[in-house]
Amino acid sequence: MIVVAGLGMSGSYLLKRLDDEGFEVRGFDPKTQDFYVPCGYATNIRKLRDILRSVNLNADDYIEREGKDVTISGPDLPELTFSSAGICTIDKNRLENDLISGHKHERARAKYESGDTVIDATGVSRYYLGQAENDFLMYTKEYLTDEADHADFHFRYFSRGTGYYWEFPLKNGFHVGAGADSVEAINQSLAGVVYKKVLSRKIRLKPLFDQMFNQNIIGTGESIGTVSPITGEGIIPSLTSAEILVQCLKEAVDTEELKLLYRERIRDRFAAYQGLFDLLVSSRNGKMFTLRNIKNAKFAKADFEGFGIDIKIWEIMRHLIPI
Ligand SMILES: Cc1cc2nc3c(=O)[nH]c(=O)nc-3n(C[C@H](O)[C@H](O)[C@H](O)COP(=O)(O)OP(=O)(O)OC[C@H]3O[C@@H](n4cnc5c(N)ncnc54)[C@H](O)[C@@H]3O)c2cc1C
Repeated sequence: MIVVAGLGMSGSYLLKRLDDEGFEVRGFDPKTQDFYVPCGYATNIRKLRDILRSVNLNADDYIEREGKDVTISGPDLPELTFSSAGICTIDKNRLENDLISGHKHERARAKYESGDTVIDATGVSRYYLGQAENDFLMYTKEYLTDEADHADFHFRYFSRGTGYYWEFPLKNGFHVGAGADSVEAINQSLAGVVYKKVLSRKIRLKPLFDQMFNQNIIGTGESIGTVSPITGEGIIPSLTSAEILVQCLKEAVDTEELKLLYRERIRDRFAAYQGLFDLLVSSRNGKMFTLRNIKNAKFAKADFEGFGIDIKIWEIMRHLIPI
C-alpha cells in the first residue's frame, strides 16, 4: 500500500495519479476542506496545462487572473516592466479538492503499517521525513486584500537576497505578501496594507536532494526543497517532482531501485536549483559578481521564464553591476 501523507499540491496530484494508474493508495491530511493555505497562487498557465492533461483536468478552468505586465523592483533597481510569459493566479484550493475527489482519503494524520511506502508530501514541515540538516527557511506572511498598489503582478526584492514583497492579482482582490529573514522586515514592508485575511508560514528555499528518504518514507514537493530559491515558486516544481515519483514507482522493481531512480531524476531535473541557491547565498554575502554566477544568472533567467515572466536579465544586471 502507498500512503500519501499531505494533500497539498504534490500530494493531491499524486493521490489521483497513483489511483488512476492502479496502485493501492490512500491519502491523509488533517486540514479541513476550506482551510485557506498560504500561497500567492501564481503559476505558469502554459506549464500547468501540460501537467494537468495527465489527470484529465483543464488548467484554464482554475485561472483567477492572467498577467500582462509584470513589474520588478529592488533597492538598486528602478521599477522595470516585463511581459508575461504565462504567469497567472489559479484557484489552488479548488484544484487540490478536485484532484482528491473520488479517491480514498481521510482528514487525519497518516496511518500506515510497516511494509507500506509512505510519501511525505507535508511540505515545509517534513513531518514524516524528519527535520533536515542545514535547512534554509524564510518567514512569510500573506494578506488577502481588496486593493494593491499595482493592478498586475509585482515583485519588490529586498537588499542582498533577504526576501521580497509581492502583489498578485486574483479574480476578486489580491494576494499581498512578503517573505524575509525576519518578521520585522516583513511587517515593515506590509505596514499600512489593509487586509481581509492574514496567514503565515515558513518557506523552504534550499534543495534537499541529499535528504529525500528515511527508510520507507520518500519525500516529494517542498519537503525535499523543490521551491525556486529566487522566486519562491513551488506549485509547478512540486507537481513536477510528484510526476517524476509516479514514473519511478511504475518502473522500479523494489524500494532500493525506486530511491536510486528517483534521486537521480530529481537531481537531474532540478540541477539549476543548486546554482540558484548558490546565487542566493552569494547575494547575501555581497559576492554576486563571480564567474560562477554568470552561469547562475542564466539559470535565473530560465527560472523567471519558467514562472511565466519574460525577464531581460541584462536589463536588471545593467542597474546592479557596480561601475
Ligand atoms: C506565503 C507563500 C506564498 C507562496 N506563493 C507561491 C506562488 O505564488 N506560486 C508558487 O508556485 N508557489 C508559491 N509558494 C510555494 C508553494 O505554495 C509550495 O512550495 C507548494 O504548495 C508546495 O507543495 P507541497 O505539495 O510540497 O506542499 P503543500 O502544498 O504545502 O502541502 C502540504 C500539505 O501537508 C499537510 N500536512 C502537514 N502536516 C501533515 C501531517 N502530519 N500529516 C498529513 N498531512 C500533513 C498540510 O495540511 C498541507 O495540505 C508560496 C509559499 C508561501 C509560504
